Amino acid sequence: MMRENYVGRFAPSPSGQLHFGSLVTAVASYLDAKHNKGKWLLRMEDIDEPRCISGVDRDILHTLEQHGLCWDGEVIYQTQHHPRYQSIVDELIDKQRAYLCTCTRKEIKAMGGQYNGHCRVRTIPRQTPGSAVRLRLDEHLSPFDDLIMGKFELHEANCIAEDVVLKRRDGLFSYNLVVVLDDVFQQVNHVIRGCDLIDVTPLQRCVYKALGYEAPTYGHVPVASITPGRKLSKQNHAAPIDNKFAKDNLVKAMRFLGFDFPEDNEFDSVASLLDSAISMWDRKKVLKTPEIIVPQHESTYYIQPL
Ligand code: GLU
Ligand code: ZN
Repeated sequence: MMRENYVGRFAPSPSGQLHFGSLVTAVASYLDAKHNKGKWLLRMEDIDEPRCISGVDRDILHTLEQHGLCWDGEVIYQTQHHPRYQSIVDELIDKQRAYLCTCTRKEIKAMGGQYNGHCRVRTIPRQTPGSAVRLRLDEHLSPFDDLIMGKFELHEANCIAEDVVLKRRDGLFSYNLVVVLDDVFQQVNHVIRGCDLIDVTPLQRCVYKALGYEAPTYGHVPVASITPGRKLSKQNHAAPIDNKFAKDNLVKAMRFLGFDFPEDNEFDSVASLLDSAISMWDRKKVLKTPEIIVPQHESTYYIQPL
């Protein structure tokens, strides 16, 4: 059932310019929101500061604008919200819902790769150098209904989730914490994103439950890959989106998602193309496949080697 007041979002990390794969996610989340008369918010996920590149946020915003993907409200930057995250982590520690953990990667490997809650019963003082903060989780990694992929279940569906890291040993807040806190903060109730994040969704749903919030409804769209298992990314030479070909990029994104979409020259503007895409949008028509290989010889997708 559709919830009232649809609020969706796009949450890029400013660690590289948008490429075809990220444009697909932007388009899918935008169209799903607009088809459902919802809001589409934008959040810069710059929590992992060492990986962010200065100025890339502005490039991303410019590319979205050039593709007619106009967001509602102010853009939020995670780096401007550290005090909010810290006070939530402090409160969870105060209530003994979260605890400090000094286990190393090697020690966790020796536990069989899954953290076994070793530090739950220890009392490690706050600010201990090299300590992470973990949330106590007693929830199961349960299946959920994905708006696009259908029922999704992990192999370890009956397992209790591992006590998730809220703050890393290096002092950075974890993605799994801030993605939940920010979606709650921005009142997001629909998350449309790439299938590379479907595996972590059961865990994120556990975080919502443990913190007493209602989880959003999720829909995961296929990711663009270079070869099976290797998604298009800056590391494997994804080409930055070329704004000169905005209409063509949008047509390619629609076709990638599974729509029988007209040629770009049938539209006199980006706006009229998007209007058609909004009315044509249908979750049931999106391909139910986690990844699609894009042709490496096309400059839309891949930087051609010299
Ligand atoms: N910032 C994440 C990324 O760029 C997306 C997180 C999300 O949509 O939940 O991959
Ligand atoms: Zn530990």
